Amino acid sequence: MGLFKPLETSSEMGLINNNSDNAEKVKCLIIGSGPAGLTAAIYAARANLSPVLYEGLQPGGQLTTTTEVENFPGYPQGVTGPAMMEDLKTQATRFGSDIRWGMATSVDLSNRPFKVVIDNEKTIEAQTLIIATGATAKYLGLESEQKFMGSGVSACATCDGFFYRGKDVAVVGGGDTAAEEAIYLSGLCKKVYLIVRRNELRASKVMQERVMNTPNLEVLFKHQTKEVVGDLKGVNGVLLTNENGEEKKIDVSGFFVAIGHQPNTEIFKDFIELDETGYIKTVPGTSLTNIPGVFACGDVQDHHYRQAITAAGSGCMAAIDSERFLAEHGLA
Ligand code: FAD
Ligand code: NAP
Repeated sequence: MGLFKPLETSSEMGLINNNSDNAEKVKCLIIGSGPAGLTAAIYAARANLSPVLYEGLQPGGQLTTTTEVENFPGYPQGVTGPAMMEDLKTQATRFGSDIRWGMATSVDLSNRPFKVVIDNEKTIEAQTLIIATGATAKYLGLESEQKFMGSGVSACATCDGFFYRGKDVAVVGGGDTAAEEAIYLSGLCKKVYLIVRRNELRASKVMQERVMNTPNLEVLFKHQTKEVVGDLKGVNGVLLTNENGEEKKIDVSGFFVAIGHQPNTEIFKDFIELDETGYIKTVPGTSLTNIPGVFACGDVQDHHYRQAITAAGSGCMAAIDSERFLAEHGLA
């Protein structure tokens, strides 16, 4: 028995096929313009697949919300997120990728060519589809959290922890991600507070034990974040409330939000097999989904690593898988 269940037909799903007469026909359609999508575009363009890529609401993806990126190979002095994504886009365009504004609003993947509707208006028919729609970090929704985004507030310890070496930081969340982020930061920072809203962690037992056995990690159970506090230099504290509504300020330079990620898979869920948390399932070591000809790369299929370099690497895999699929079907 393979990893995936058999594909249902569109009639079984009650879907109506769009009239395809006016649809634009492409060999390789890429949805998403983060490191995964743009890397797929570079490879697909160089393989003469004439890829069309739709950027979505966040051209350049998550990295456009950060300042310094220091861990992407090839930038010895580091680079800002927006500049790096501009470089990737320039490189993809150089080889003829057709990069467009627009959002995929619905799909019909029941038959090939796959139908993808852009901005509820235009239909594209694609022989292969590369899904690179990423995942979105969840935030608390505080105004002060937004204000200090990139100057003390982060949703990625692996990315930004280095900037807080030897300092005190706080992590909010009680799941495995928060536990992992807090433990990682405890190796870099002087002290780590873990702010947990209930009186217990949701994290797995093994992670809970690691948290409790880390000497410079203090768990503040039954605490909620009221405000992130700071000045022009960035964050310098967090105002918390306990179950009785009493306030307390902790002095920290970094505030890491780790309350989960939301993979951007809503429009695919009727066709593509997802895991229990909504991420696309791929055949391990490949970008193959349960639908032949549909490939997934980057954070949308990876809740484990969630890094620009792993997203880019899997974008390369998706383009190569797409190229081979087209060749095998005499469509290259
Ligand atoms: P994303 O970057 O999430 O891009 C998804 C793309 O899909 C976007 O362009 C979006 O517009 C598009 N999209 C979504 N839905 C649709 C749709 N329906 N139609 C069309 N387009 C759609 N990683 C590092 O390696 N180093 C770092 O220093 C680093 N710093 C980070 C800092 C922050 C604040 C954050 C949030 C993340 C950071 N990361 C870092 C993680 C890194 O940004 C992600 O792992 C990476 O961006 C994932 O790439 P992706 O291409 O899979 O998706
Ligand atoms: P998660 O399991 O959904 O946990 C989210 C945590 O954030 C919960 O503790 C939740 O509190 C808390 N939270 C949510 N909204 C909040 C808010 N507004 N204020 C304060 N706290 C809030 O998410 P996750 O930790 O990202 O994990 C997602 C999945 O990936 C899980 O299945 C997890 O096991 C897996 N994962 C595994 C590993 C690993 O095995 N090493 C690492 C990372 C993730 P409540 O508990 O009160 O709801």
